[in-house]
Amino acid sequence: MLKDFVINGTIVISGLFIMGQIFRNHPVKPYSPSKLKLLAALLFGLLGAVLMEFSIRIVPGVIADLRHIPVALAALYGGIPTALVSALIIAMARVILFPAGSEAFVAFGGMLLIGLGCGLLTRSKSRPLVKFMLMNLFSLLIITASLFINIPTAPLFLETALYHWCISITAGFFAFYTYIYIDQSNEAFRRLKEYSTKDFLTGLNNSRQFTVFFNAYVQRAKERGESFSLLVIDIDHFKEVNDTYGHPNGDKILQELGQVLSNAARPVDIVSRNGGEEFSILMLDCSRLEARYNAEHIRAMVERHVFTTLDGEGIHITVSVGGASFPETHAEEMYHLADKLLYEAKRTGRNKVCWVDILQEDQL
Ligand code: GH3
Ligand code: MG
Ligand code: MG
Repeated sequence: MLKDFVINGTIVISGLFIMGQIFRNHPVKPYSPSKLKLLAALLFGLLGAVLMEFSIRIVPGVIADLRHIPVALAALYGGIPTALVSALIIAMARVILFPAGSEAFVAFGGMLLIGLGCGLLTRSKSRPLVKFMLMNLFSLLIITASLFINIPTAPLFLETALYHWCISITAGFFAFYTYIYIDQSNEAFRRLKEYSTKDFLTGLNNSRQFTVFFNAYVQRAKERGESFSLLVIDIDHFKEVNDTYGHPNGDKILQELGQVLSNAARPVDIVSRNGGEEFSILMLDCSRLEARYNAEHIRAMVERHVFTTLDGEGIHITVSVGGASFPETHAEEMYHLADKLLYEAKRTGRNKVCWVDILQEDQL
């Protein structure tokens, strides 16, 4: 029996681990999209069916299993619908795998009740551990009632019920802490991924992520013979904004500019904050002619936009832009050239876009 119990515990932990991998980037929560919750419900249902197949033999002819644990976990993850669908799958699997007589129907109904009860218990305001243990206890009450109906003799009923309570409570703790561990690890993974790719102030891509996208664009453009363009954008006289309105207002303007640039760019473009008050836009499959037009549009949108300080005062800022396009410019030279053209835009009056043909070849 101990061997069977260890096997069941291992199945629960392995199932949770695999699901942790599947849902690492898209966590299943009660507010997640229905498709995601449905997938989680199917997987928990499958886990319950596997647990039934590997059930623990107590005495010949009497078995116990942990099929309700996936339902309680499904409830914790995705709330009532996830719990109900996973319970329905397990109930159907019970009838298909062990179709014998009226017992199958008691087990079927019992499992649906467990799904409903666990789902409703997610509404309780208790801590997750307490909530999970309440679900486990509720499931055990339903299971005990089913055993009472299905087992004819009192000593056998009591022995079986006792085993069920012992294995469920022990396995429940293991399952819960495995769930918490995987959930927290995934959360930390997602947060680290975000911190390493996003700029904390504007939410745009940071310079590291810019480089990742840039290299991917170069490879794609070379493989497909496409063009792509790069804009390097810098705020004009931003120091004066900081000096006049203070650093917090400077930060606010940077955030707002991030939004203005994202709105002005095409949905496929990659907008990044490459550092300080310097931004960039990568334009996929965008020729030099189209990019020059877009750059002018973006510059003009910034010029027109009324930025608001933390006190609600409206202010205007302008940007200077340097641009370069592939294949006219070698991929390795693009950033350097766009930066040089940005400097040229600053030198020749600011609030303008400079492209390669305004520089003499010997200046490059
Ligand atoms: P130019 O038109 O030549 O670009 O002039 P500028 O004043 O914008 O350029 P400069 O390089 O002299 O100053 C950039 C300023 O940007 C200085 C710095 O304090 C400010 N800055 C850089 N990063 C941040 C930031 O994260 N928040 C705020 N508020 N200011 C920043
Ligand atoms: Mg500047
Ligand atoms: Mg600058």
